[in-house]
Amino acid sequence: MPKKIYIRTFGCQMNVRDSEALLGLFLERGYQAAKDESQADIILVNTCSVRAHAENRALSYLGSLKKFTERRRTRGAKRKVIGLIGCMAKNLGEEVYQRMSHVDLICGPASLAKIPVYCDKIKKDNIRIIDLDDDLRDEEFYRSSFRLQPDHAQVVISTGCSNHCSYCVVPFVRGELRLRRPEDVIVEVKRNIDLGIKKITLLGQNVNDYPNFIDLLSKVEKIAGIEELNFITSQPRNVPEGLFEFMARSGKISKHLHLPFQSGSNRILKKMNRGYTRQNYLQLVDSYKKIVKGTLSTDVIVGFPTEADKDFLATKDILEKVRFRKAYIFKYSPRPRAKSSKMVDDVSDELKVKRHKILLDLQKKISLNK
Ligand code: SF4
Repeated sequence: MPKKIYIRTFGCQMNVRDSEALLGLFLERGYQAAKDESQADIILVNTCSVRAHAENRALSYLGSLKKFTERRRTRGAKRKVIGLIGCMAKNLGEEVYQRMSHVDLICGPASLAKIPVYCDKIKKDNIRIIDLDDDLRDEEFYRSSFRLQPDHAQVVISTGCSNHCSYCVVPFVRGELRLRRPEDVIVEVKRNIDLGIKKITLLGQNVNDYPNFIDLLSKVEKIAGIEELNFITSQPRNVPEGLFEFMARSGKISKHLHLPFQSGSNRILKKMNRGYTRQNYLQLVDSYKKIVKGTLSTDVIVGFPTEADKDFLATKDILEKVRFRKAYIFKYSPRPRAKSSKMVDDVSDELKVKRHKILLDLQKKISLNK
């Protein structure tokens, strides 16, 4: 009987792509994907650390997996391997390793390619493994052709981030910015096209940090067979000159841009270390609307430390002015190690909930009108 693997993912698109690539490596080794945990020989939990909510859900899910190891032990059956992987492993892995003895594997984002070998070792030698290295991710990680969607593929162009927005844990869990070589990106895109996939999304924490990103887009766009090309995320701090003109000219790049503004208050943006002002942001939006004539989506945080009514109203004003197609609105919560965790989290939960609701209601109306 082939062995079965189950990967549960909590969090962002980058994690979804990582889980897909990892599943592909297991399938290449003869594993099958299990429909649920109960059928699996290996259960991996891949979790984003950007928000506490995803980590809390993952922790309670990991706790619930203990029942499988207990049941299996009493029946004398073969053991399941249970692992916490990805950003949360890097963030809280040592603590989980100490507290949850049923978790056999802790593996950070840089070492995901080693997981199939680690799982074999755990089974064979009855050991636990923890790998929180910061090494450069092995290019081998991306070599599988397995795709979850038949018509759309996500291709990672960079991992990590060196921007250090003060609330963000990414530079600590995924490490500083690391680039995949353009030729490796192109090989992976071509492999997808050969599978009949026509829609490609290039992924990076900030694609604008990729040196000469427009050149990369232009090379990928020219690959025969691509019908639609997207990219995410584009941070307002360093949108490359000429990007909008390129988007307008291209017959393949989608006319939609995810441009997270986070706060409309210059004082809060400075505390967030976002590297732009509300004026810069609104100018960018103006140029985008004039040149690309496309749609926009965004991310917003309410209740950042010291956020006063005036700051909140400045954020609300940007939502009203820009009229995004979609806005992902979050209540601030401090993340360990991020610089803002040293600031006093002085906006009450009650006020965060109130502000969050005001923006959600506003955005709902805007989205419905659009
Ligand atoms: S640009 Fe800022 S928010 Fe985005 S991943 Fe980098 S540090 Fe985090």
